Amino acid sequence: MGETVNLDGLFEDVACVKLVPGITPLERGPLLDSGARLWVKRDDLTGLGAGGNKVRKLEFLCGAAVAAGAKSLVTVGAGQSNHCRMTAAAGALLGLEVHLVLSGERSGHLEGNQLLDALFGAQMHFTGEPDHHWGALEIVRESVTDGLVGDGLEPYSIPIGGSTAVGALGYISGYLELSQQLFENGVNASAVVHTSSSGGTHAGLVAGQAICRAAGLPAPPVIAIGVAKGVVIGSPDVAALANEALSMLPNRPPGIEVVVDDVVVDGNWLGENYAVPTDEADEAIRWAAQRGGWVLDRVYSGKGLSGVLGRAASGEWTSGDDVVFIHTGGVPSVFATDGIPPL
Ligand SMILES: *Cc1c(COP(=O)(O)O)cnc(C)c1O
Repeated sequence: MGETVNLDGLFEDVACVKLVPGITPLERGPLLDSGARLWVKRDDLTGLGAGGNKVRKLEFLCGAAVAAGAKSLVTVGAGQSNHCRMTAAAGALLGLEVHLVLSGERSGHLEGNQLLDALFGAQMHFTGEPDHHWGALEIVRESVTDGLVGDGLEPYSIPIGGSTAVGALGYISGYLELSQQLFENGVNASAVVHTSSSGGTHAGLVAGQAICRAAGLPAPPVIAIGVAKGVVIGSPDVAALANEALSMLPNRPPGIEVVVDDVVVDGNWLGENYAVPTDEADEAIRWAAQRGGWVLDRVYSGKGLSGVLGRAASGEWTSGDDVVFIHTGGVPSVFATDGIPPL
């Protein structure tokens, strides 16, 4: 500690394709009722295919796909998956055929993310499964992948949410970008809060935090608001995923490790299940729209912000505290049936 750690070249020799056109804004938001200052990191503005957190992961996932000589991408998600939509856009950009395995049935009337999936030219495989039957969806992804191998399409197959160690690299880079912005704004943040469902964003953030901590850079603790049952009960193992991602950076400073105490998941804002709306999230969506012009969704970012507002209201952050909320996107799902709360 205290020694200068050089982070130049951290991502050297790691396969990556540029998909985010620049750095995303860190906006100074309003004071919360508790007196704490809200900051919003606009990762809904990552550019590609209407944006969102998956674009950062896809920079490394697609980097790996291109390096492997893949001719197609396969991935999987809920019917209104943001991750699938951004993968479809990345495939369009890179000239790779994209196959999406989705929950639910094909509808004659495409909405929200599915409308964009079709627009980006992706092929949708509907499984008829409910949204949260992730295991069954993954099995179909494997069989679609096998079929493409048989057809000579050399697929690069991406698990749910892109939450492999390779995908998590995107949020190591994202945390470093945020740390630099906090430094430039002179902000000593009490916490960085984000919405978590498949855990890869969380893994990247805590790995980035460990690097910044070791380098003497701003390194506020990370809090994940869990919006799927898996992450709330500790699956995946976020610390292990984070350490696996760190091990993929040959130029990382020595001795950096994520420990279990770095991993905080708050499951109090999930409600009944993944994608089941909550009153608190609906309230947070209206609050964000009317206080900052931000568009949040009912599956992810609305629940995430409800966690920020709820934790502040309980006295965790008060006057003089700065709290960063990472807006992870999800805007297109607002334009699907039941995508916005009653006004
Ligand atoms: C996928 C997603 C998340 C969660 O990210 P994970 O890495 O899967 O935990 C949060 N917000 C939005 C809008 C998402 O699409």
